[in-house]
Amino acid sequence: MSADSPDPAAVPRAACVVVAAGRGERLAAGRPKALVDLDGLPLLVRALEGVRRGGLGDVVVVAPEPFLDEVLALCGPQVSVVAGGSTRQQSVLAGLGALRPDVEVVLVHDAARCLTPSSVFVAVLDALAAGHRAVVPGVPVTDTLRRRSGGMVDRDTLVAVQTPQGFVRQVLEAAHRAGAERLGAGATDDAGLVEALGVPVHLVAGHEESFKVTGALDLVLAEGVLVRRRVVAATP
Ligand code: C5P
Repeated sequence: MSADSPDPAAVPRAACVVVAAGRGERLAAGRPKALVDLDGLPLLVRALEGVRRGGLGDVVVVAPEPFLDEVLALCGPQVSVVAGGSTRQQSVLAGLGALRPDVEVVLVHDAARCLTPSSVFVAVLDALAAGHRAVVPGVPVTDTLRRRSGGMVDRDTLVAVQTPQGFVRQVLEAAHRAGAERLGAGATDDAGLVEALGVPVHLVAGHEESFKVTGALDLVLAEGVLVRRRVVAATP
């Protein structure tokens, strides 16, 4: 499958849960992060564009309860919108609960990674189609890392994990059930929950533009990425 022409028929029936119910307190924008403007469009709308270009037409958006109507209006009738919980794990669970019964594989994506290129969605779908039950995109760690308790960490052994993460639906649902019993509702990473069940997690290449918008500086970087894309698109 080529990076920009996914063949949906070649993969099991896939859906994407886009979690967008975070409060975005670290961004301090006064409204949920997913609704914050990025060069004229809310982060969520930009994230959905990558999902759509990645070949995923079956989408569930998990939104903050007080903003459901606003998110519904932004997403349009093709997208299901459900209310999230107070942790990311609860929001993912809410999204899983809204999947159509015939969905076989599910990608979970952070709306905050609003500029994830479609090629990453395609790479995750390809790996699922090849038989992997859990797939995460990752990028090399560029900072030198040190343990608080002392001692360096060999960064060459590490990757920074991104989304979309892809799973066989039953595996992810089982992992969330087990995770809720073991950890409560605090898990921040779906692949970590799946790995705790003993299911191997397959790594694919993530992308530098798939960073998570967390603080104000990330918005500046995201605006820069959009400028770069426009320049590249306009260059013959
Ligand atoms: O808080 P953090 O930046 O790690 O959130 C990652 C993603 O999870 C964001 O897209 C955010 O909207 C989502 N999230 C959620 N429900 C929560 C917390 C976070 O959907 N309760």
